[in-house]
Amino acid sequence: MINEKMKNYGNNRSVIRDLFEFGNQRKAIVGADNVFDFSLGNPNVPAPKEVNETIRELLDTKNDIYLHGYTSAQGDAACREAIVKDLNKRFNTSFRKENLYMTCGAAASLKIILTALYAEGDEVIVFTPYFPEYKVFVETTGAKVIETPSDPSSFQIDFEILEKNLTCSTKSVIVNSPNNPSGVVYTEETITKLAALLEKKQQEYGHPIYLITDEPYRELVYDGIQVPFVTKYYRNTIVCYSFSKSLALPGERIGYVLVPDEIDDSKDIYAAVCGAGRALGYVCAPSLMQHVLERCTGLVSDLSEYLEKRDLLYNALTDMGFECIHPDGAFYLFMKSPIEDAKEFSEKAKEFDLLLVPADSFGTPGFVRIAYCVATDMIRRSLPAFEKLAAVYRK
Ligand code: PLP
Repeated sequence: MINEKMKNYGNNRSVIRDLFEFGNQRKAIVGADNVFDFSLGNPNVPAPKEVNETIRELLDTKNDIYLHGYTSAQGDAACREAIVKDLNKRFNTSFRKENLYMTCGAAASLKIILTALYAEGDEVIVFTPYFPEYKVFVETTGAKVIETPSDPSSFQIDFEILEKNLTCSTKSVIVNSPNNPSGVVYTEETITKLAALLEKKQQEYGHPIYLITDEPYRELVYDGIQVPFVTKYYRNTIVCYSFSKSLALPGERIGYVLVPDEIDDSKDIYAAVCGAGRALGYVCAPSLMQHVLERCTGLVSDLSEYLEKRDLLYNALTDMGFECIHPDGAFYLFMKSPIEDAKEFSEKAKEFDLLLVPADSFGTPGFVRIAYCVATDMIRRSLPAFEKLAAVYRK
């Protein structure tokens, strides 16, 4: 009667959502200030003031059809033009508005491109740790996720394992840098090596291997680190982007898929993107946000606050003896569980009202993810609870 697979996705909520709900229940009992919720990746810096000013100005000066009417299925032409102009200026590229398809954020961008590309039996490489929704997005196309462990010392790509996992069924590889949940940014060396290996494998198998780069954290990096713009290194690259983090607008649901002219079968893939958008009902991304982007592309929220949060948490937790990956980007701290079972560790942390996400569903057991996109004051107040947690394992 109903689709069992969908029922299961609905009933088996993500661990992150479960923790978040647990946190809400605890807040009702012990008070909001006494629960240290590090579960969700919800930006806590404001959108640039120009974004809200633009919304106000648009509401005051434009009519309702312009503001709230349907745009083209693939997005408003002026908005797409503004976005490619900005990309071309920043990355010295020559994209056209015809390369862009506007979406409801990176999640929709990924689902659209995966639906456009995959058929039953295709294989998709993802590197652990990875954003758990990739699995849902890939599996519902009939393709198969090939989990490929990263180098455990750096969380860069382990090329030996990757080479073994690339087969003639590999349709694409998904990368996410800066990474959720590790905070790691792929170096230029990693991207260059990846490009060379994929190029070699394309030749060997006689068909394209598309590199899908999921980049909601592109601008969120620290210490002057540069994020290589992947299309410049590997021709068959498709970009999934979202303004959720860079403009701190996750609830407004706006992003894009970029299908460059240079990739193999570009026109057909763009047509398949439009087809997938249609089949999934993902046409015409929110029009008000598209009009805002036409005027605000190129702006970024003040992300410097995250640096203070990162340093505060990383330094405090490593001083307490926890082992953490030093995050170069995004707003997550990836911490090694002091015991093998990170779920058990996360349960113990709950006893101190610390909500840490066990990373098993990211494909990396033995770690927890700490989303530090929270008030700096909450991080400070949480430190005694972390200290108590550390003490449990010191004995
Ligand atoms: N990809 C990664 C790696 C993410 O971390 C997220 C959200 O946190 C998404 C995709 C989805 O982004 P959006 O909210 O723009 O759909």
